[in-house]
Amino acid sequence: MTASSKKGQRLNAPDARIGDVLVTWYQKNKRSLPWRQRFLESGDPYVIWISEIMLQQTTIQAVLPAYERFLGVFPQLKNLAAATEDEVRLACRGLGYYRRFRLMHEAAQVLAAREPFHWPRTYKEWRELPGIGDYTAAAISSIAFGEAKAVVDGNVERVFCRLLDRRVVPDQKLKKEFQAMGDSMIPASAPADYNQGVMELGQTICIKQNPRCAICPVQDFCAAFKNGSQNLAPAPKKPMEYEEVRMHLWLLLQNGKIGLVQRSKDARFLGGTLGLPTAWEKDGELRWEQAGRWDFQTEAFGSIKHGITKHRIQAFVHRKDWKGNSPAMTWVPLEEAETQLVSNLDRKALHLFLKLEAKPTLFDDQSFL
Ligand code: SF4
Repeated sequence: MTASSKKGQRLNAPDARIGDVLVTWYQKNKRSLPWRQRFLESGDPYVIWISEIMLQQTTIQAVLPAYERFLGVFPQLKNLAAATEDEVRLACRGLGYYRRFRLMHEAAQVLAAREPFHWPRTYKEWRELPGIGDYTAAAISSIAFGEAKAVVDGNVERVFCRLLDRRVVPDQKLKKEFQAMGDSMIPASAPADYNQGVMELGQTICIKQNPRCAICPVQDFCAAFKNGSQNLAPAPKKPMEYEEVRMHLWLLLQNGKIGLVQRSKDARFLGGTLGLPTAWEKDGELRWEQAGRWDFQTEAFGSIKHGITKHRIQAFVHRKDWKGNSPAMTWVPLEEAETQLVSNLDRKALHLFLKLEAKPTLFDDQSFL
């Protein structure tokens, strides 16, 4: 392979052997993951599709328990298509970025309505479904249907930048070049193993900090390794600019139950989720995340920190014994609340409450969160 780190210079053709080397390496070293096992046993594209949606912007460790729980509730496409939006959210609880699951649900309904039913097979057909981008379409069509379309995500970009010693921040133009490079390297005889191999290489060997070059199967082809510049390629992205947000969450209590409300679909955070009554501060006023205005004059008993995309949230948690009723309120026994709350933010607030209730002396100590 000839490589260049000069900005603006086009990539040269990669060494065609890389694809085969990655396939061989993957076949010997692949991790045992539940979606791989399930697909091996059932051949059902559904189990691959669900895993690929869950893995978007989420670590494998976080996905593992949610994946098993989800397939326990919705074992087949028809179960998912027939579910309500709330049931889907609940089954995906704790994973964040809920828009992807709303789109996945929409796609399930599109597919289930097909007469006669047939799965999309090609990259192009998958790409037409709601919530399926380039990467996901390439992953599913290659793994489940053997299409030779290469995946390119952040991990693959990092691997390719190093193979070519490109010391730049990957942009759209470079991503297109990498897509062409991947498509030219993917062996038609084993596209699923190539794609999973290159992803696995980025996740386990060619990691961000201190890549494990000594055991890397493509070391011989790597320009950054030759130049000793692994930590320079790619160039680091500009750090994210965070926005600080102050938020308030209320635990409404009545006869051993807590009151949950549906956040508005267009809420600023966690739109459409069933959770604790929530408001955030703007110009000294509270902006409510669910329909109606609430007038709770309460002191927070504690606070939690939470991140949602570029927002750094400090959420003050309040408790209120609630006498009245409201059709908007869903009352859930306290011991079941954990399984009903979709978002991690709500669950953190609940945990704080339970911890402080169990040990009142901790009221002033929030360091455990
Ligand atoms: Fe990444 Fe090192 Fe392998 Fe190059 S040799 S691809 S830098 S792990």
